Amino acid sequence: MTGKVHVIGGGLAGSEAAWQLAQGGVPAVLHEMRPMRPTEAHKTGAFAELVCSNSFRSDDWETNAVGLLHEEMRRASSLVMAAADANKLPAGAALAVDREGFAALITRTLETHPLIEIAREEIAKLPPAEWDSVIVATGPLTSPALADAIKGLTGEAELAFFDAIAPIVHAETIDMSVCWRQSRYDKAGPGGGGADYINCPLDKSQYEAFIAALLAAEKTVFKDFETTPYFEGCLPVEVMAERGPHTLRFGPMKPVGLSNPHRPGVKPYAVVQLRQDNALGTLWNMVGFQTKLKHGEQARVFRTIPGLGHAEFARLGGLHRNTFLNSPKLLDTGLRLKAQPRLRFAGQITGVEGYVESAAIGLIAGRFAAAERRGRILSPPPPTTAFGALLNHITGGHLIHDAATGPRSFQPMNVNFGLFPPMAEPSPSREKGPRQQKGLARKRALSLRALADLERWLAEPASVAAA
Ligand SMILES: Cc1cc2nc3c(=O)[nH]c(=O)nc-3n(C[C@H](O)[C@H](O)[C@H](O)COP(=O)(O)OP(=O)(O)OC[C@H]3O[C@@H](n4cnc5c(N)ncnc54)[C@H](O)[C@@H]3O)c2cc1C
Repeated sequence: MTGKVHVIGGGLAGSEAAWQLAQGGVPAVLHEMRPMRPTEAHKTGAFAELVCSNSFRSDDWETNAVGLLHEEMRRASSLVMAAADANKLPAGAALAVDREGFAALITRTLETHPLIEIAREEIAKLPPAEWDSVIVATGPLTSPALADAIKGLTGEAELAFFDAIAPIVHAETIDMSVCWRQSRYDKAGPGGGGADYINCPLDKSQYEAFIAALLAAEKTVFKDFETTPYFEGCLPVEVMAERGPHTLRFGPMKPVGLSNPHRPGVKPYAVVQLRQDNALGTLWNMVGFQTKLKHGEQARVFRTIPGLGHAEFARLGGLHRNTFLNSPKLLDTGLRLKAQPRLRFAGQITGVEGYVESAAIGLIAGRFAAAERRGRILSPPPPTTAFGALLNHITGGHLIHDAATGPRSFQPMNVNFGLFPPMAEPSPSREKGPRQQKGLARKRALSLRALADLERWLAEPASVAAA
């Protein structure tokens, strides 16, 4: 393979991917439709425009997963992180940036790079066949024409246009002295074992108090471009509650086919079920609990559910416009579309969430494509790193529920320690001590392991591709 790599979309992921290609000595063409063709959220023609908040969240690499991701990106010569650091604003432990300075620095750097060519145009159909290496990084607001073309390639059901996300809970924070493992009627189902769900029981007064709290809680308002009728299959939980006091008890909270071993003989009045969300078994999603409640309200109201009093949420629920692939099914570990490997995907369209995560996947895609252009294969970052944990969420870690096993359930995710394999050796978190201190020690141990493994990956020469 020779020649240029085409990057479609000059957002967080595409800008980083083009930079990584150029740093690897590979020429890139960056195609961006703005400013001629705007999106519903972007306001400028600058690359890497931040469409909403100006925060990259915590910058603490020792005890925060997104802070660790910052550090990994810095060590991998990220342009996005260099521009963020150069435009840092005072924000306590968070990394907040001057958005104009940040985007201007990235735009200037890419526009003046000798190996990067800029094409201000919308790519409105599948890239021409002669583009033999393409990175599609068109984000949550991918233009409708291109989204249609991608849908034609992947199939209708494999490209989503909305997140309908139920909260995801760290397994270790669920109180199993209250909850229990059981599938309804102990049914094993395909690939199941008859005890696949974690069940949280509510009695009548707990249920009534929960419904009242749900109805009174503050909701977020849809943005104009997000006003879309709800699909009956994924109504927000609070909308179901508005339909009547028993709607949830006959819907996702129905107590049938379940018996509580902690209180034999006492039938729960309602049950909240959680289903395993990642292959590691460290994350569990609340079944049927997609919601538009404000984040603080979600944590407050959902912690009133018995067994979730100390729940820590890997992500809270939401419902918003977002174009993303069913990546665990469609992409290989090199982020290439299995059906057409010349097309590689990066950024939020792959099923990560947030500025930093999207840029990180752009970084990895750029490095993969650069190695491939030089006839080499770059191994994926180790799953113990934040890079690898995110990549694994996209391409491998999620349990796929398809036609055979149930509805598609892959949803975008921010980086979090629940995506990392637990420490093989007993970690300091097993030591006796206050709960919070143990949690911090565990995170420090995971972060130190991640950075050591990252250094090994960065030092690894890409292997020569098999003929
Ligand atoms: C309304 C809204 C608010 C958000 N708020 C936050 C927040 O506060 N914090 C946070 O971390 N994340 C937020 N996000 C998510 C964040 O925007 C994304 O995580 C991040 O921007 C994704 O990076 P990306 O490179 O994948 O996509 P983007 O940054 O969106 O970049 C995609 C680029 O592709 C271009 N493009 C699209 N289609 C085509 C085409 N056919 N041809 C050529 N170019 C094309 C677009 O113009 C855009 O420049 C928000 C998203 C939305 C929609």
